Amino acid sequence: MNRVGIVALQGNFEKHAEAIRACAHEGVEIQFVRTPQHLDGVDRLIIPGGESTTVGILMQRFGLGEAIQKVVREGMPVWGTCMGMIMLATDIEGNDQYRLRLLDITVRRNAFGAQVHSFEAPVKVDVLTEPVMGVFIRAPIVSRVGDKVKSIATFDGKCVAVQEGKMVGTSFHPELTDDTSFHRWFLNL
Ligand code: GLN
Repeated sequence: MNRVGIVALQGNFEKHAEAIRACAHEGVEIQFVRTPQHLDGVDRLIIPGGESTTVGILMQRFGLGEAIQKVVREGMPVWGTCMGMIMLATDIEGNDQYRLRLLDITVRRNAFGAQVHSFEAPVKVDVLTEPVMGVFIRAPIVSRVGDKVKSIATFDGKCVAVQEGKMVGTSFHPELTDDTSFHRWFLNL
């Protein structure tokens, strides 16, 4: 049994739950995570898209940030999409907002410019056989990757997905497409 925690403080966590249910081959359970107690019995964790400043404040207030840091340092696989990747980062360009500092990257928020709020483009991800449709919504890019971090996808010459062991970050939102290949890959990580 795979028990997938999805951080559900704010943002589009429901879409991740739908994607996980759609690939629930061998009995996958979903646990929405709002407090540290909700992490009990969870095998892997998704941090969805949303607003990173808001979620940072809420994570601090409920002690969830520290609890996530603990379980991820102990080896729990974690995947952050867009805001989730911003939350996982060690550094955010020009910004001191709360983040988990788990994944050794620097992110640039809203990196595609205020004029380009969202767009879609196919993205080849190294860990998947087929390209996925990348949905970018006020998306960040990764402007620095640490020594142990692999860039696993680029778009327009910019790094848009990374992996460091069992920690994964994507600038785009696979949960907003019908393609569950990224979710299936993460369930087996
Ligand atoms: N731009 C948002 C932020 O910085 C992230 C957007 C998203 O998650 N779709 O928090």
